[in-house]
Amino acid sequence: MSVRCLLLLLLVPFSFVSFSQKLKKADKATLTNLQAHVRFLASDKLEGRRAGTNGEKLAREYISAQFQSAGLQPKGTQTWYQPFEINEGKQVNPTTRLLINDHDLKLDTDFFPLIISANKSSEAAVSMSLAERNVPWFVDLKDILEENKENPHFDLPEALRTKANAVAEKGASALILFNSSSIPDSLRFNGKEKVETVSIPVLYVTSSASKKYLSDHEATLDVKLKTDIGDKKRLGHNVVGYIDNGANTTVVLGAHYDHLGYGEDGNSMFRTGEKQIHNGADDNASGTAALIELARMLKTNKSPQSNFLFVAFSGEELGLNGSKFFADNPTVDLKQVSYMINMDMVGRLNDSSKALTIGGIGTSPTFGDMFKVKERKPYFNIKIDSSGTGPSDHTSFYRKDIPVLFFFTGLHTDYHKPSDDFEKVNYGGQLQIVKYIATLIANVKSQNKLAFTKTRETQTTTSARFSVSMGIMPDYTFSGIGVRVDGVSDNRPAQKAGLKTGDVIVQLGDFNTSSVETYMQALSKFKKGDKTKVKYKRGTEVTEVEVQF
Ligand SMILES: [Zn+2]
Repeated sequence: MSVRCLLLLLLVPFSFVSFSQKLKKADKATLTNLQAHVRFLASDKLEGRRAGTNGEKLAREYISAQFQSAGLQPKGTQTWYQPFEINEGKQVNPTTRLLINDHDLKLDTDFFPLIISANKSSEAAVSMSLAERNVPWFVDLKDILEENKENPHFDLPEALRTKANAVAEKGASALILFNSSSIPDSLRFNGKEKVETVSIPVLYVTSSASKKYLSDHEATLDVKLKTDIGDKKRLGHNVVGYIDNGANTTVVLGAHYDHLGYGEDGNSMFRTGEKQIHNGADDNASGTAALIELARMLKTNKSPQSNFLFVAFSGEELGLNGSKFFADNPTVDLKQVSYMINMDMVGRLNDSSKALTIGGIGTSPTFGDMFKVKERKPYFNIKIDSSGTGPSDHTSFYRKDIPVLFFFTGLHTDYHKPSDDFEKVNYGGQLQIVKYIATLIANVKSQNKLAFTKTRETQTTTSARFSVSMGIMPDYTFSGIGVRVDGVSDNRPAQKAGLKTGDVIVQLGDFNTSSVETYMQALSKFKKGDKTKVKYKRGTEVTEVEVQF
């Protein structure tokens, strides 16, 4: 489950449970399998199954082998797999060079480009004290830092952008910065920052290197430089298997199998800074194990009404990347998908409360009818949530107007911590959930697609930390500049101001909102009742409207 959206969910304490009911032979086999799957997926060998890592690879090989032994057909784009790119911002490629008098400066320790830098090369003999056309210009940050020492509004990166544009205008082929003062500038290359680039390379020479190579301001230097900043990407893989029953419609079953690795992506709740494996037994080896066992059960289903597609998603913990990619690039016709079932964190059923949350009930009238019928002896204490959106992969299908159901046994104190381990999973409870889902599927008798209904949006920003919100769901996978709107809540400021899904918010009041992070920072500056201007792009058109929080 994705960390960004959990705040509305309440903490449910877990308890260790012993599952000692008499089980049928088939159930026993399923129980043993569930345990084996979680034991493997949540083992240290997989190093927390972070998307794009070797741990993810071991996990997907396991899942595809399980799909194969269950008798599924591969339905990815590369047999079982559907690779997709995860954008991680920018990186400095190693061809980036700076030579001063034939000294090859070391990237990172001696120099680095700033994120605003253009990708170009330049070669010239330069007198540091002269500002000539078509050569790199050297600028000491000393003066600007001293001038602004007492200025709380001083924004050095912004000042450097202005400076770079100004020297480029005057003919500089590059801008080389250094800081001879004792005032720290804390400049670094931040690849996550989303900014527009300037027209020339902008390099920063560290203080130790500048003492070595730039101390004589009267000298003529032979400068050769090349900047190469590129996209930083890693590859995630969905695992996709199919049961073709020759039916008109297909039911999609999904669970994400990726988790946090060592917490490198900043989504861990374990904040000591210590490097530890996040095994993710409940989140979401439990759902993945349930997915595999449902594949096995549905393959032997005698009277199927539909085909079944099983997708183990990756990249969920980064912002539903895998399911979003699948929904945009489906390997079956989405028009024939009747509904989607998502399982995320189904391993912590509390044996005394037996609380099971089912989300998405409002996304089809059929679901409404299904859950109206009270079983005579319900195993679970079902908590119904009508919304089709939430902190997991079903949201990506709901956004394609597909009815969804989301199964979840509740949050706990091990959520997104290294202690979410194999031995804390309630396998007996998980077995009951798997059986229950199989029964629900069997009870949907219609051979046609289920009717879809829109529901309210679950408020998914971390509203606890902010006194105001716009009522939008940001698209965390968007790699452009700004905040792309993935959903708009009814009767909230964004909707009232006319914003729609697909709009890209670029400014809020005086604040640039180039990324979700800067947008959040901007929001924290407002309080309820405040009015401000929001600037957004729709296609190429830029519009400014007033919002009131
Ligand atoms: Zn999670």
